[in-house]
Amino acid sequence: MDLRCEIICVGTELLLGDIVNTNSHFITKSLAEIGIDVYYHTVVGDNFERLTRAIENSFNRGMNLIITSGGLGPTDDDITKECISKYFNLNLVSHEESLKNIEKFVKSSRDNLTDANLKQGYVPEGSIVMKNLKGTAPGIIIENEDKIVINLPGPPSELYDMFNNLVKPYLKNKSECKYYSEFLRLYGTNEGDINGILSDLFENSVQTLAPYVGKDDLVLRITTKCRNDEEGRDVISKLKEEVYKRVGKFIYAEGEVNVEELLYMELKKRNFKISFGESLTAGMLSSRFVNVSGASEFFEESFITYSNESKMKNLSVNFETLERFGAVSSDTAKEMAIGVLNRTSSQVSISTTGVAGPNESEGKKPGVVYIAVCVLGEVYVKELNIIGDRMRIRERATFDALVFAYEILKNMKI
Ligand code: ATP
Repeated sequence: MDLRCEIICVGTELLLGDIVNTNSHFITKSLAEIGIDVYYHTVVGDNFERLTRAIENSFNRGMNLIITSGGLGPTDDDITKECISKYFNLNLVSHEESLKNIEKFVKSSRDNLTDANLKQGYVPEGSIVMKNLKGTAPGIIIENEDKIVINLPGPPSELYDMFNNLVKPYLKNKSECKYYSEFLRLYGTNEGDINGILSDLFENSVQTLAPYVGKDDLVLRITTKCRNDEEGRDVISKLKEEVYKRVGKFIYAEGEVNVEELLYMELKKRNFKISFGESLTAGMLSSRFVNVSGASEFFEESFITYSNESKMKNLSVNFETLERFGAVSSDTAKEMAIGVLNRTSSQVSISTTGVAGPNESEGKKPGVVYIAVCVLGEVYVKELNIIGDRMRIRERATFDALVFAYEILKNMKI
């Protein structure tokens, strides 16, 4: 069955901004995993007429699967079940097992069982009832001709549990397909340039190629609908090959990875130690590297040499170099990286120097950054021009320095 889904979250508190709509996010991501397309997200207050209209709108615009969250509680403003029953002209009938579950829950919390509690044990006749293991409100599935409506409780812990254990298998069975995605991670380029190079590949009915900006890098997602991973890999292989042909030089990794871990793995392979000489990044490089558990095996030392004096004193940067080229220069970065290796027993060093802004320094614009990587005495330098505020420039320089070092090690024959 080709399912077209709208998620309707019910709750005035969502419209007031009192809570964040994490249920929509969770349901959408979970549906993507089983290949079900979500077309719309709607949020509606605890209001009978407006919820009825939202359901009508959804079916009128071609949806055949509505998943609601919230409004299944015991109070008068919890109206989801009542509204859906009225829409399909179904009576609410008592459900023994749900009533027992409610009684058990209420007793275990030492509250008195009220009529309001018992209201939760009524379900639309003919519906599929889903037991709530984390709370009192049962979930409900109504199948009506070619339409499916699924009502889930609002509290995330109840909804997640019910969705994973009951709704997902039910829908998987109905949809018989899933999404398969691969992620290509790019650095040293930008969304505009990539759009220009790949634009003719974006329109494709079988696979989707979509770029998005990640926290540090640019990500290309290739997705297709398929019956299993093997088929998915096969379907996207040609498109992936074409992407590599055009922008392969910017792709540094695939999948859900983080760069510090990639670098760590390269060091581990060679049993190399790393140390840092940080000016612009002032500790960020070291801090990011130690995110990796086990970093202490390969991370030796870090020098934060912010002033020229410190660069000379701690890393033996030449006074003449600083005078002639400035602290923000490839020569200084290079001498810093060499200085780090001379001061430590590491085989690899990374240095950073640059202008964090907002003002120019030494006549260089904010965002001008030099990173140097020294491996066993051989030095590689890179100039960057980063756009953004101080934090962005420093974070981006940190990321680029780690990728730069990773790529150098990855391509080394040793
Ligand atoms: P209850 O029995 O707790 O009343 P319910 O099914 O009626 O459950 P709501 O009353 O709508 O659900 O919401 C209960 C709580 O669940 C809210 O106060 C909120 O903390 C959380 N919640 C509801 N909807 C969402 C949502 N879309 N995203 C995240 N949290 C939500």
